[in-house]
Amino acid sequence: MIISMKRHATREEIDGVIQRITEFGYKIHAIEGEERVVIGAIGVGDTSNCLESLTALDCVEKAVPISAPYKFVSREFKKTDSVVKVAPDIEIGYDQFVVMAGPCSVESEKQIMESAELARRGGARVLRGGAFKPRTSPYDFQGLAEEGLKLLAKARAETGLAIVTEVMSDAEVPLVAEYADIMQVGARNMQNFALLKALGKCGRPVLLKRGLSSTIKELLMSAEYIVAHGNKDVMLCERGIRTFETATRNTCDIVSIALLREMTHLPVVLDPSHATGKRSLVPPLARAAVAIGADALILEIHPNPAKAMSDGAQSLDPQQWMAMMEDLQPYIALWKQARLASQPVAV
Ligand code: PEP
Ligand code: MN
Repeated sequence: MIISMKRHATREEIDGVIQRITEFGYKIHAIEGEERVVIGAIGVGDTSNCLESLTALDCVEKAVPISAPYKFVSREFKKTDSVVKVAPDIEIGYDQFVVMAGPCSVESEKQIMESAELARRGGARVLRGGAFKPRTSPYDFQGLAEEGLKLLAKARAETGLAIVTEVMSDAEVPLVAEYADIMQVGARNMQNFALLKALGKCGRPVLLKRGLSSTIKELLMSAEYIVAHGNKDVMLCERGIRTFETATRNTCDIVSIALLREMTHLPVVLDPSHATGKRSLVPPLARAAVAIGADALILEIHPNPAKAMSDGAQSLDPQQWMAMMEDLQPYIALWKQARLASQPVAV
């Protein structure tokens, strides 16, 4: 349930409400709002007695149940877009459109440094690159592990880009969190609940990718795991789903971007590389993502895609990357105008 306090509620009144909610056996999970305090409470069973008792209090403006099963990530819980701070000078959400780019895998110092410089020149703010790679075949390149994380940190120091990189297991969360600015959960791990719970305590923003065969509701429930375990800085990523169609690597559920923005306040990101598997389709899909209102893009680029150790066919080469970023600019300018015009009043 959500309890909105009156604008001038005192600290004592807020504490009194929290105590009453706790007495009813519910857990306080979030307190939000700049202008007024909004308390989120979760628990099992019928909330009607508790809601009635709270509504009777003078200091309570409104006490309502949250009907969505994904409570804290729902738009019902928070009307305004959430903004995730991924570095001191980089925020994702509301009026900042952010591009994250880099190779599928960190392969060598030379490759990641060249990729980072290329990403920066094109206007990316975040460098992607996998050090722990979820590969279908155990005989394929599995990533450089900690050595790859160190190279990413070096690229950050040289370019000022933030780092997003995948974490595949709960055991590796502390190690990856030492190096990454954003912890990526890959599609194959979207419902790895032990990992999601550990990410709730990792102290870093999380980029949660949609599972290959996951519904939008399941994606939101996975995000709820991370938030309910203590981390509200979650971004969702559409990366295509598996259908009968094999002409593209995955089928891009592009409308999920607009739908997710109705259902949740969390930033929504599109990955046009994994969604298509084909580099010629990446720029048109990136345009569509901006037009439909994504908050950010994450995509693969490589200094020499023909030599890439993973996902070369979907990686943009330097010329394609620079051209795409230039072509996107007018779309991003319109996107920004629309965002500034549309934001609901802060709670
Ligand atoms: C990746 O980003 O390189 C990746 C493996 O993506 P996904 O988890 O979406 O397949
Ligand atoms: Mn990849």
